[in-house]
Amino acid sequence: MKLDSAVLKQLSEEFGEAFYLLDSAQFKQNYLELKQAFSNLYPKFNIAYSYKTNYIPKLCRIVDGLGGCAEVVSEMELDLALRIGVRPENIIWNGPVKEAGRLEAFLLSGGNVNLDSLEEAEAVKAVAGKHEGTAFKIGLRCSFDIRDGGASRFGFDTEGEDWKKVLVLIQETPNLSLQGLQCHFAKRQMAYWPARVQGMLDLVERTGILPERIDLGGGLFGKMEDSLKEQFDSPIPSYAEYAEASAGVLARQFEGKEKKPELFIEPGSALAGDCMKFAGTVKTIKKMRGKWIAAVLGSQKNISMAGVNPPLRVYAMGGRQKAYEGLDFAGYTCIESDILYRNYRGPLACGDMAVFGNCGSYSLVMKPPFILPNFPVVDIAGEKPELVKRGETFDDVFHTFCF
Ligand SMILES: *Cc1c(COP(=O)(O)O)cnc(C)c1O
Repeated sequence: MKLDSAVLKQLSEEFGEAFYLLDSAQFKQNYLELKQAFSNLYPKFNIAYSYKTNYIPKLCRIVDGLGGCAEVVSEMELDLALRIGVRPENIIWNGPVKEAGRLEAFLLSGGNVNLDSLEEAEAVKAVAGKHEGTAFKIGLRCSFDIRDGGASRFGFDTEGEDWKKVLVLIQETPNLSLQGLQCHFAKRQMAYWPARVQGMLDLVERTGILPERIDLGGGLFGKMEDSLKEQFDSPIPSYAEYAEASAGVLARQFEGKEKKPELFIEPGSALAGDCMKFAGTVKTIKKMRGKWIAAVLGSQKNISMAGVNPPLRVYAMGGRQKAYEGLDFAGYTCIESDILYRNYRGPLACGDMAVFGNCGSYSLVMKPPFILPNFPVVDIAGEKPELVKRGETFDDVFHTFCF
């Protein structure tokens, strides 16, 4: 469906005055393009979608349907993947805390685990000891310096004692083997990609173990409009540029070699970022000491973006518009800093709908139950709108409390 005032009017009659607009077709296209960009350079490649970035089941199911994997970081996300029907061998379980019983069951079912600590390695060793006839494979989350100004708290410090110990532990456990090396760094700028790729290749050389998998994690920018790109102080790389900096390097490294590891990345934002918009109705417009403020049904917490202006489009809904300059769109919460967009210039009337773009990552999943339950999510990829999450109610928020 193409978004216009008539469509928004129809949607607000059906779903209320504020809602998320999902574009699942865009998500699918992003997946296919990203897959292609990397596979072109290094065919032994797959994507593990980071559930935490946006775990709308419909998106997770699209990834599974296209042959991608699920990247989960908790028992809750693991349950979601299993509920959707993802096979354990297509699930990668990362994260700093894993419950021992679930870890055992997951390993026995053939799932992939990247260990984060020596304590976890000991737990896996115990599992291997209990099931001597079964071969177990595990991966290790690796942490090394990529000169991004921060030392990661995740995984094994590959310069530290625990790294040596975990390699010995794996070697000394007959039915346990190292399947993969994984890393993830949150900084998305191109500047940090060569160091993360080289860091992993150095580990392969240092340990003398060629793993089945090299997993470079997420931390890729997604697609965005120029108005948003311009607000970052470094260029926003394309899928092809990320691919060249990683898959291209691996292709050259393993050219002509008989054994090549499978390359994985774990994108979240790169796939989901531009697939969701948030639409909120303008409720009031007032002047506060010389500054125009429009209050929308919606919050900065709905769109998650901070410090930048998201792409914004105002749709006239029939009210008498006036021209404004320097107007801020503010949210329904009682927080002074709840601003969705600063210094808007253009026409606006009460009752208009403000549609904020690029809010597909870390938005829905991080929205707190603060002041109001959350709004519904509607997929507008098809001919007709499809509800993928109903609006939350008072009961959704309060049924865990004891009255
Ligand atoms: C958060 C996370 C990702 C996804 O990160 P994006 O920035 O959304 O691409 C991938 N892997 C791991 C281990 C993560 O913690």
